[in-house]
Amino acid sequence: MSELKRVLDLMDSYSAKNYSPLPVNIVEAQGCWVWTEPGRKDDHKYLDCLSAYGALNQGYNHPRIANAAIKQIETGVTVTSRAFLNTPMADLCKILSEVTEKEKVLLMNTGAEAVESAIKIARKWGYKKKGIPEGKAKVIVSANNFHGRTISIVGFSTEDQYKDGFGPFTPGFEIIPFGDIEALENAIDENTCAFMTEPAQGEAGIIFPPEGFLKKAKELCEKNSILLIADEIQSGFGRTGKLFCSQWENVIPDMYVLAKALGGGYPLSAVTCDEEVMGVLNPGDHGSTFGGNPFCSAIALEAVKIVLDEDLIENSRKMGEYMLEELRKIDSPYITDVRGRGLWIAIELNTSARPFCEKLQEEHHILCKETHNNIIRIAPPLTITKEEIDWALEAFRTVLLKS
Ligand SMILES: *Cc1c(COP(=O)(O)O)cnc(C)c1O
Repeated sequence: MSELKRVLDLMDSYSAKNYSPLPVNIVEAQGCWVWTEPGRKDDHKYLDCLSAYGALNQGYNHPRIANAAIKQIETGVTVTSRAFLNTPMADLCKILSEVTEKEKVLLMNTGAEAVESAIKIARKWGYKKKGIPEGKAKVIVSANNFHGRTISIVGFSTEDQYKDGFGPFTPGFEIIPFGDIEALENAIDENTCAFMTEPAQGEAGIIFPPEGFLKKAKELCEKNSILLIADEIQSGFGRTGKLFCSQWENVIPDMYVLAKALGGGYPLSAVTCDEEVMGVLNPGDHGSTFGGNPFCSAIALEAVKIVLDEDLIENSRKMGEYMLEELRKIDSPYITDVRGRGLWIAIELNTSARPFCEKLQEEHHILCKETHNNIIRIAPPLTITKEEIDWALEAFRTVLLKS
């Protein structure tokens, strides 16, 4: 029995069915490439154009990240009680404070946890600093958002499937159309503590708001003493060709929510904001057993440094521009739009994208995943070279022209 068959059978028998994966069992990986059989033969080699939804901006098995992991394991210190201190956590807080230009950092583990934490901080700030009456705080969010899968978060999703069967939900959220500044202005009231949004929506299909939206949103928030929370979990750390996507509009949000590439392939998330806001958290108010653990912190510290000193941001911008330009030249009857920034590109089709993704995998050894049925999302590691992109473009041309 092949290993793939064995894994498919085990998954079928024992795993929750909350995903429908392509039949690709990844056993080894390096850079932008993965192998489905041990031994790294070309027959089993695939280009990963999904990067774990942006968790692998530095590529698989980056030597500096592998080295940081091994070194930390060798100390014997992978997790300690937060009743004690550890060195990597302290160093990570400093570098995250510097890169986000925020005074304080809260470390958590997953994206959803960081989003939940941001909401808790924003609400508490609303009560303790802004003077919102207890129990009345409102957070405004965008339609078609994706912020994770906890009960509170799916409660303000506009995706029916994410909510179906999971209620009752957490109150205190209002949804406005994404990128609609007038709707934001109308939704703001004296009990609003925050406006939380992705600066560009990834899961929704790589959608940027109208030019100037984020800047105007920041101004509105400032005028009304409201925190602008940018969920840069997918868009951050070079994905769009800037360190953070908010920088496309020269906006520094009041709070960043970060995860995915921050962990360099390991689970680590963070909220950063100034002391005026973070200061509402006192010892005992919030916590996490693994939040700030020395193992993932040591890795994340290296992961952030790699993004900064290996030109990944510049590579993302240049390679993204090139790829977008070349994809737009494909004269396909199926393509209705090609858009994106940096190495974050969506090809929108007038038909289901799944057969194209299957063909890309089976015939061309490129791993992509459809989003919203008719959109192919391309988000390779930011280490990808022009040669590798040219190789991928040939496959996209073949599949999109002739399917
Ligand atoms: C992936 C993602 C999340 C959730 O992160 P998890 O680690 O899966 O909980 C939240 N927001 C955005 C924008 C994301 O892309």
